[in-house]
Amino acid sequence: MTVHHLEPSFVETFPTTLRPGVLYVSIEFTTCAHLCACGCGEEVITPLSPPHWSLTYNGRDVSLHPSVGNWALPCKSHYIVDRGRIRWSYQFTDEQIAANRTRDRRAIDRYDVNEVLLDMNELETVTEVPANRRRFWTRFRRLLRRSN
Ligand SMILES: [Zn+2]
Repeated sequence: MTVHHLEPSFVETFPTTLRPGVLYVSIEFTTCAHLCACGCGEEVITPLSPPHWSLTYNGRDVSLHPSVGNWALPCKSHYIVDRGRIRWSYQFTDEQIAANRTRDRRAIDRYDVNEVLLDMNELETVTEVPANRRRFWTRFRRLLRRSN
């Protein structure tokens, strides 16, 4: 079912099963997660960092900038989260998707995402890391790879 509104839920780690209509925000891991607003049930991870997304919270609703372009998903949905509301945007063409990927890759390369990934690898080898956190990182890295 299509979602028209995302309500923020501030969490340390994401639950195993995400609920539709909720934008999970982990400040600790500077990452947000939600189920695709088109209703396809796919998880969408939006890392918060200068080359990725910024989050604005007005005390009630959250906004994400820039838009969420799920071109790695079968639905290829594209929308803006504006003060909790889903504003649908145009569908990307294959050429636009390729151009966006190149641009994103350059921005991420400049920011040195390898260092971030290195940190994650180190985290996973630490035995004290709780199981739910390890699951989080495994899923996060899987999704990062999928969107690359
Ligand atoms: Zn979708």
